[in-house]
Amino acid sequence: MPSSSQPAAPRDPKSDRYDVIVVGASFAGLSFASVAAARGLRTLVLERDPVVGGVVRTTGILFSDVLDIQEVPQRYLMNAVRRLRIRASGSDAVAEMSSEAYRFYMADVTGLLQWMAEQAEGHGAEVICGAMFQSAERDGSSGPNGPNGPNGSNGEMRVRYLAASAETQEARTVELRARMLIGADGARSRVAQALDLDRNERLLAGAEWLVEGAEIERDTFYLVMDAQLAPGYCVWLAPHAEIAAFGVAGRQREFKPNESLRLAQTMFDDVTDLSQMRVVERKGGNIPTGGRLKRVYRDDERGRALLLGDAAGLCGAATGGGIYPALISGRLAAQAVAQELLNGSPAGIKTYLRTLPQAGRLGPYLQIEDWIRFALDHMTSNADLQTLVRIMASPEGNRVVRAALLETPIIGMDKAFFAMARGMFMQHPRLYGTAFRAAWQRLALRA
Ligand SMILES: Cc1cc2nc3c(=O)[nH]c(=O)nc-3n(C[C@H](O)[C@H](O)[C@H](O)COP(=O)(O)OP(=O)(O)OC[C@H]3O[C@@H](n4cnc5c(N)ncnc54)[C@H](O)[C@@H]3O)c2cc1C
Repeated sequence: MPSSSQPAAPRDPKSDRYDVIVVGASFAGLSFASVAAARGLRTLVLERDPVVGGVVRTTGILFSDVLDIQEVPQRYLMNAVRRLRIRASGSDAVAEMSSEAYRFYMADVTGLLQWMAEQAEGHGAEVICGAMFQSAERDGSSGPNGPNGPNGSNGEMRVRYLAASAETQEARTVELRARMLIGADGARSRVAQALDLDRNERLLAGAEWLVEGAEIERDTFYLVMDAQLAPGYCVWLAPHAEIAAFGVAGRQREFKPNESLRLAQTMFDDVTDLSQMRVVERKGGNIPTGGRLKRVYRDDERGRALLLGDAAGLCGAATGGGIYPALISGRLAAQAVAQELLNGSPAGIKTYLRTLPQAGRLGPYLQIEDWIRFALDHMTSNADLQTLVRIMASPEGNRVVRAALLETPIIGMDKAFFAMARGMFMQHPRLYGTAFRAAWQRLALRA
């Protein structure tokens, strides 16, 4: 790819020229911006919401692995979850597991994202809220940084966004220039669309209500699997500081999340009475489940852009855990982009893309999640789900799930973990009659 180094964009605060414009001020975008700005790139973050973290679209469970790669002040870690309780609709069988080793936390997402934005700004990045990215393309005309490669690949990009005015409620189009565009704008990335990069095709839809009046244990995460109300995922009730998060996710085209939540209120009758709950906040969003996208980078006459986080399909396809991959991809991509733009290392971004799966064992993590997603997508009846829960309730099933969710950090998921999972499946021939046969065959073929 004919890319060469150029001096960093002017530091003049009035200049409309940036080294990188990042779309999306969430986990991927802010971790990218922080590192990129610290490395000396003139960095701008565009966020469509009126304030960073103003619209929360995630439950905010942080695996403990996140704390190894990202500093998270204690004040944003609300509840340490050390107990899981899983049931399938239509059955009283319950799988319960707990661990003294805290494996994940419920985070104050708004506070954490605002803190991350402050960190990025502290390193010199600018963050503009109320800025909805619209379009971008490479500037074909000549100019100070105009085309100088054989196909014009070093030309700047023109980037347009809609700026909302808080006073007049009117929006105007603003055009800026950047050497590179970063799409950290989530599962339905507009950057991917504008630059004709790969897009997430398979999605879970999720909705979550923050509710008062639900009495639950402050360290327990309650899950109910139901093939109709939460196809391919589950309904959950979880502590959220002093209140509770009541949520659901499932395959996008097969259900209506808010309707499911209305119908699911009696599902936790064995735990608490939700009939009197008061909804104080509603959130929702999409979770990519199709796996890591292939074409997430381009540098040609059309433009120069890289997708990160959910926009790049970097999300656990089964659990929907995407914060960890978003943070890792943001940080590492920023180093690679800085190397290319400042030092002229031509293969920085390609190396980043090739080596990303090895970072923080992201590759094995996404692969395990992909297998579980495959199995879940084939479990289409509550009878299947009841079998699954009974297995999770058995001593060996309990051990595997406890190890996976409450004890083993992602970077510790090695062959021993696979052997344990294999041992569990081998002892339950009933599984072979259901979707697990397909999943197990796939797993055995690849192992
Ligand atoms: C209901 C639900 C619950 C979840 N729970 C968890 C969980 O507990 N733990 C976990 O690890 N993961 C969870 N996830 C997944 C996790 O939220 C994502 O994987 C993670 O947020 C991805 O981060 P990101 O920065 O890539 O994208 P996002 O967090 O989606 O951020 C994208 C940002 O881009 C902005 N944006 C979008 N379009 C534009 C535009 N055109 N112009 C400007 N800005 C734009 C958005 O406003 C947003 O701020 C959940 C997801 C959902 C939907």
